[in-house]
Amino acid sequence: MAKYIFVAGGVMSGIGKGVATSSIGTLLQARGYNVTAIKIDPYINVDAGTMNPIEHGEVFVTEDGMECDQDLGNYERFLDKNVYSMNYMTTGRVYQTVINRERNLGYEGKCVEVVPDIPEEVIRRIARVTRESKADFVLIEIGGTVGEYQNMLFLEAARMMRLRRPKDALFILVSYLPVPKMIGEMKTKPTQYAVRTLNSTGIQPDIILARAERALDAPRKKKISLFCNIAEEDVISAPDITSIYEIPINFEKENLGKRILNKFDMRDMGCDLRQWEKLVEVIQNSSEPVKIGIVGKYFESGEFILSDVYISVIEAVKHAAWFHKRKPEISWLNSEHYEKYPESLSELKAYGGIIVPGGFGSRGVEGKIAAIRFCRENNIPYLGLCYGMQLATVEFARNVCGLEKANTTEIDQKTAYPVIDVMAEQKVNIQKKHFGASMRLGAYPCELQAGSIAHGAYKSFSVKQEKSERGNFLISERHRHRYELNNEYRKTLEDKGMVMSGINLDRNLVEIVELQGHKFFVGTQFHPEFKSRPLRPHPLFAAFVKATIL
Ligand code: GLN
Repeated sequence: MAKYIFVAGGVMSGIGKGVATSSIGTLLQARGYNVTAIKIDPYINVDAGTMNPIEHGEVFVTEDGMECDQDLGNYERFLDKNVYSMNYMTTGRVYQTVINRERNLGYEGKCVEVVPDIPEEVIRRIARVTRESKADFVLIEIGGTVGEYQNMLFLEAARMMRLRRPKDALFILVSYLPVPKMIGEMKTKPTQYAVRTLNSTGIQPDIILARAERALDAPRKKKISLFCNIAEEDVISAPDITSIYEIPINFEKENLGKRILNKFDMRDMGCDLRQWEKLVEVIQNSSEPVKIGIVGKYFESGEFILSDVYISVIEAVKHAAWFHKRKPEISWLNSEHYEKYPESLSELKAYGGIIVPGGFGSRGVEGKIAAIRFCRENNIPYLGLCYGMQLATVEFARNVCGLEKANTTEIDQKTAYPVIDVMAEQKVNIQKKHFGASMRLGAYPCELQAGSIAHGAYKSFSVKQEKSERGNFLISERHRHRYELNNEYRKTLEDKGMVMSGINLDRNLVEIVELQGHKFFVGTQFHPEFKSRPLRPHPLFAAFVKATIL
């Protein structure tokens, strides 16, 4: 029988509920259990694909092409396994299923009600994940914070599951304890209120993860225990750390794994976190920096810059740097700045390598193109991800092939040289305004050209190696885009030295472009960052970082 651990948040958002959920998974996995995780997002959007990154952070893409919350990226990185579309649900998605079922007479004439039919659908979805993943433990992270109207029905589903299977369900509250500067003391009151609010939904937390700047001291533990009706050992201290990958180790020190098993009446047979300890040692001891600049458009919210938008790219750079025992130093470079002040492009020379990540729309595009040109002409290692590959193609077409004002039709529909163009089936989607879940999404195979830079990278750094029928290297990577390299320009680009080193054979699509005779210049139509794992860096990032330290 699978065990269920519900993780809810109290006091405020953004305190690392996703990472905490993932770390709990790591602790259980390190004890030999099969673990999976589900994210529930309370909004009406059916998926995260249509949301502005400023609203929502990065849109993560699963193997089966689901555009979802970035927490699924955390699950994959901490559990080192794939999660799928079924591992994600939103209010919109749940209602959509219930309404469709009602339209198909699936409720056999019954009056369909918000309660219990919506929570029942949530439970049905959790059951499906359990069945298909054959997991021993299913972690369910409920988005938002307790007390919000929006996640009530999900808490209700959790309560119903506990009622039905009291021995198989556990509740963890991730709370926050502020240390207001004026007071200089860690305050427990907001956590007390959060627990009371959770109580009003019929749920008593079994464990509280106390997030705070600092570790909890004894008086605070006692207070939370007393006022929140929970044993002291179940109040787990979760202070700020320098690297998120320390969290499973810290949780283990606080006996979290043992406490969880205890509550399920399971025996703790010990836990093996050696790989994580080794990683953390590298993270703490690597001092020689590798400086990577990410040229993107700034995502600002008021006075704050949201780096979450590129979280998988950032993590992938870190994984690769640690693999080479270096300290990653990542800088944000505003592409719009290079449009206004082209002379500042020379600052790119200070970096070991430059990345232009995925993106949409015209803001900052010319600045990105200028930065790519600078990298190409000055032998600065360059990695272009999706939009970064498309814009590298545009730059090469303009400045090497002499195709003046060449462009992607995303920016200039009337360009004389549409070197990047919309795919035929995507034209229909755009015309009909079908924007949700309609891009080229998820994993597609790609054959690598023997002897190319990409081939060398996968050969040196990938664990699993597959071959195509022709005996070439075959890889599979995740996509999220509407536009493609236009095959009509392939020969022109190739004649001037651009190498199409990765091809999707089913549809003859260019997936990787690269330049030889350069330290490292690679652009991928796919998003390699989604498959990078802390214990298994992505081959292209590993090769890119290696080129920056040669
Ligand atoms: N905007 C480009 C496209 O739709 C690139 C997308 C991306 O970088 N994810 O094709």
